[in-house]
Amino acid sequence: MSQYVKDLMADVRAKNPSETEFHQAVEEVAESLDLVLERHPEYRAAKILERIIEPERLISFRVPWVDEQGEVHVNKGFRIEMNSAIGPYKGGLRFHPSVNQGILKFLAFEQVFKNSLTTLPMGGGKGGSDFDPKGKSDLKIMRFCHAFMQELFRHIGPNTDVPAGDIGVGGREIGYMFGMYKKLRNEFTGVLTGKGLNWGGSLIRPEATGYGAVYFGANMLETRNETYEGKTCLVSGSGNVAQYTIEKILDLGGKPVTASDSQGYIYDEAGFDREKLAFLMDLKNVRRGRIKEYTEKYSSAVYTAVDSSLDYNPLWDHKAQCAFPSATQNEINLKDAQNLLKNGCYLVSEGANMPTMPEGVELFVNEKILYGPGKAANAGGVAVSGLEMAQNSMRYGWSREEVDTKLNSIMKAIHKTCLDTSERFGTPGNYVNGANIGGFLKVADAMMDQGVV
Ligand code: NDP
Repeated sequence: MSQYVKDLMADVRAKNPSETEFHQAVEEVAESLDLVLERHPEYRAAKILERIIEPERLISFRVPWVDEQGEVHVNKGFRIEMNSAIGPYKGGLRFHPSVNQGILKFLAFEQVFKNSLTTLPMGGGKGGSDFDPKGKSDLKIMRFCHAFMQELFRHIGPNTDVPAGDIGVGGREIGYMFGMYKKLRNEFTGVLTGKGLNWGGSLIRPEATGYGAVYFGANMLETRNETYEGKTCLVSGSGNVAQYTIEKILDLGGKPVTASDSQGYIYDEAGFDREKLAFLMDLKNVRRGRIKEYTEKYSSAVYTAVDSSLDYNPLWDHKAQCAFPSATQNEINLKDAQNLLKNGCYLVSEGANMPTMPEGVELFVNEKILYGPGKAANAGGVAVSGLEMAQNSMRYGWSREEVDTKLNSIMKAIHKTCLDTSERFGTPGNYVNGANIGGFLKVADAMMDQGVV
C-alpha cells in the first residue's frame, strides 16, 4: 500500500468514524487504484478519488407511520446520492434492521463503479431504512412504504435519481412506493425500477442479478475452456438474487445444492431441480416462510441452524467447484474462504455486495481462482434497471429474449473490461483490480471533463 493510500485511508477513517463497511469498500478500491494514480498524476492533482469518496448529497430523514392497531412507529430513512458524473443517481433501497449510514455509503460507493462497468449512463446512489419487513402484514408494509415515499419523492426523479430494490425491497414494496410517488407528483414516469410488468416494468428485471452472476461465472469459466456442466454449486441466501442464481445454474447444467436465510441453511445433496426451486420460490415469495421448511417437504435435505459460537459458516464447507454468495455483506470470512478452497472450489461469483471479507478476497486473488467481485458479477441487476429506464423513456417494451440477450452481452462486456484492464495494469486475471480500475476510469474521465463541481 502506497503512502498516498495510507494517508487517504487515515483521512477516511477520521472523517467517517464507525462506518467500518465504508472504510472496507474504499480501501479495496484505493489499493487497486494505486496502479492508475501512478500512471495518471492528473487524477491525483484533480483529487478525483477524494471527490468520489465524498457523497454529492446525503439525505437523512424521519419516517413516522401508524400501523393497523393505531400504534405509531418511527424509522430512519436515507438516500445517498454518491456520484452523478455519468448519469442520474441509480441504486437500490434496502429495508433491513442493520441499515445505517455507513452500510449505505459502502453500497453507494460500490454502485458508482458497478454502474460505470455496465456501459450504461448511470451514476451511483443507494438508500433505505432500518425498517424490518420480516413477518409484517401487507398493510403494515404498505403504510411504511407510503410514509417513506412521502419524504423521498422530493429528492428523486426519472432524470435525477432512480431507486430500485435491494434486501427487503422487492416488487411489492416498489409497487407501494411507486403508487405514492405517482400520487404526490401527479405524473407517471420511470422513477423507480423493478416495477410490475403491467405498469412500466421490464421483463427479466427480477431475474437479472442472479442470471447475470451466473453469466459472469460462465465467462470466467470460458477462459479455461470450461462450462458449468456437472459442477456442484453452493448458493447462499434464498431471496431474489439466490433464487434466479439457482435457476440459471440449472439452465446451464450445474448442480446447486444449498440455500440459506438469516436463521440457517439447507444442504440438498441430490441438488435442486425445477420442482424444488418452484417450492423454494413459493415458500419465500408467497408464503414468506423460513428456509427450514424446505426439509419438511424434501426430507433428504439437511437443515443446519446458524450457530453463532462457530467462527465459520458450514454452508461454505461442502465439496463444490463453484460458489455464489447471494445473501449479504461479509458472509465469507478467511476461514470460509479456506474451506472453499480446501473443498475444491475454484470459481466464486458474487451475487451479493461485498460478501467476502478482505482476507478472503486476498486469498482468492493470491490463489488465482476465478474470483468475480460483486461490483462486476452482480451488475446485471442494475444493467437491466438501466434497460428498464430506456424502455420507459421510449414508452416501449422489449421481449424477454431481447432483454436477456442484452443482459448476456452486457455481462460479457463487463467481463472483458475487467480482464483486459487487469492485463493492461499488470495483474492479469485479477478481476478485483480489473473491476475497480475499469469502473473508475470512465467516471474519472467524466469528472475531469466537467471540472471541479
Ligand atoms: P432479498 O431480501 O430478496 O434476500 C436476501 C437474502 O439474504 C434472504 O434470504 C435473507 O434471509 C438473507 N440475508 C439477509 N441479511 C442476512 C444476514 N445478515 N445474514 C444472513 N442472511 C441474510 O435480497 P436480494 O436477494 O435482493 O439481495 C441479496 C444480496 O444481493 C444483497 O447483498 C444485495 O445488496 C445484493 N444485490 C441485489 C440486487 C438486486 O437486484 N436485488 C442487485 C445487486 C446486488 P432473511 O430472509 O432471513 O433475512
